[in-house]
Amino acid sequence: MIKNNNACSCGCCSQDLVQTKGNCPVCNNKGEAVGKVTVEHLVTDDNRKAVEGDQYRICLNEECDVVYYNVDNGVKFLKNQIKVPIWFKKDANPKYACYCSKVTEEQVIEAVLKHGAKTVQEVNVITGAMKNSNCKENNPMGVCCHKIIQEAINKGLAMK
Ligand SMILES: [Zn+2]
Repeated sequence: MIKNNNACSCGCCSQDLVQTKGNCPVCNNKGEAVGKVTVEHLVTDDNRKAVEGDQYRICLNEECDVVYYNVDNGVKFLKNQIKVPIWFKKDANPKYACYCSKVTEEQVIEAVLKHGAKTVQEVNVITGAMKNSNCKENNPMGVCCHKIIQEAINKGLAMK
């Protein structure tokens, strides 16, 4: 006979305990893992020394002021401690689609509406996006901006 002390098997009862681990210390939303090199590169100069440990995550909640937080040591950096606006946070201005070449979402949409671009490649030719890519350091999530540009193109296409 199997004795089940955990009441149910779906995990809902133990979820409360595990939930906070790894989540944003302020809003408790789930964060995405980000490399230390990205955090170091994007915090303002006077905050660089405070970047300790390497278990960093980025808070994806657009309402939350926290950008990076460390899961291990509690270090966190807010929007005003980061050099660039975070495109998915509320009131980001300008809203960059490509951080390496400083191309904004607006420019991508304009390339779609005024120049008829439909693909990321076409947008790149028109706007100069994704030239000299160094996404690991420049993009706040440390990932290639390809996806963000594609989303901006979709927005533009939907406006047509
Ligand atoms: Zn948060």
